[in-house]
Amino acid sequence: MDERQRAVCAAVDALASEMVETLQAFIRVPTVNPPGEAYEDFVALAKGLLDGLGYATEVVRVPDELLPTLAPLGEGLPRPNLLARLAGPAGPGFRLHINGHYDVVPAGHDWTRDPFGGELIDGRIYGRGACDMKSGLVAQIYAVEALRRAGVDWAGEVTHSFVPDEETVGNRNAGTGFLVEQGVISRENTDGVIITEPFGLDGIGVGHKGALWGAFTLYGRQAHGSAPHLGVNAVELAARFLCRAESELKPQLRQRRTDLLLATPGTETATLSFDTIEGGVATNVIPDRCTVTFNRRLVPPETLDQARQELFDLLEALRVEEPRLRWSYEERYATPPTLVDEQQPLAQAAARAIREMGMTPRVMISAGSHDQRFVVHGAGITNSILYGPASNDTSHQSDEYITVEELVTGTKVLALILLEVLQPARASG
Ligand SMILES: [Zn+2]
Repeated sequence: MDERQRAVCAAVDALASEMVETLQAFIRVPTVNPPGEAYEDFVALAKGLLDGLGYATEVVRVPDELLPTLAPLGEGLPRPNLLARLAGPAGPGFRLHINGHYDVVPAGHDWTRDPFGGELIDGRIYGRGACDMKSGLVAQIYAVEALRRAGVDWAGEVTHSFVPDEETVGNRNAGTGFLVEQGVISRENTDGVIITEPFGLDGIGVGHKGALWGAFTLYGRQAHGSAPHLGVNAVELAARFLCRAESELKPQLRQRRTDLLLATPGTETATLSFDTIEGGVATNVIPDRCTVTFNRRLVPPETLDQARQELFDLLEALRVEEPRLRWSYEERYATPPTLVDEQQPLAQAAARAIREMGMTPRVMISAGSHDQRFVVHGAGITNSILYGPASNDTSHQSDEYITVEELVTGTKVLALILLEVLQPARASG
């Protein structure tokens, strides 16, 4: 490490107790999504902090008339996005956007700690969002703060966005998706994006698997249960559809394996699962409709069109056997795989920063989708990575926590990335 890097890391150490207190305060606001509770409280808290640190802040709210579309599970509750901008003292340069979501999944059961207590016990901070990803928000604030407290010169500008609704996906959404649609995050105003989702202290996220969720309804014909031959049994047709998927499609999907490292080991192949099934009205009525929902995950370079067509083909093959079958399809969520080149400047800067901290960087994608899909497919910004302080181990689980050490180390890595990309251009002459 050089002198500037050491100064910045020392500044993070000096900020550690402030960071812990901020994370505790963030966890104590229960921003549970769905439906999206206490969002305004959280944004007011974060805005107050960033105002105090000298940022120009702005709250961008989704207009009421768009709420049913952008936040269908939101029960009409407000969807505020917080933006905070700060320019470096050394003049224009790299325009970095740092994004994190402040919503958390519901606490669920089996907690031995208060999920919204932010308790600090034996070096661990507990609570829903400790990993995913209020610690990321804390890290992005204090990484910038460390540069300032260390007194190092930096150029360009940093824009933070604290967004809602990452956890409820959606082809469009009220958080990062809305900011991209509005042009708040665009290729014209942004040179690179870091999303502070947790991929482990040595992990650099460069994408995610694709996802296709939908429902098929199979239609037959009702008849008296004592005379099945007079009807067309939609439940039995659905069973045949699932069996075909099991024997014909799934073996193919298991062969489609990506060589990329997955954040969750074992998720390297394309997958398909059928998750709900609903059909029939009574045991003495041959059912005339049956609906099954599915969840298909795609590995690069699979496409959504291909994934849909493979399912349609199974149903059409079944129709050859039973021409009276009719079916319809309703799509609920679709995102293609996202993958950026690990040679992009931010990914390279992150790899160097992780090495500076004595670790070996691991470049990976996640099985689940995240907001990078909007940044890459919507805004067209490929210089984008995910780096956050937490190890992913307890996200979405009971007794979710992050250690103080992880929070501090992850913030140092982030600060070192910033130090590199926000470096002032060398004075000419
Ligand atoms: Zn997350």
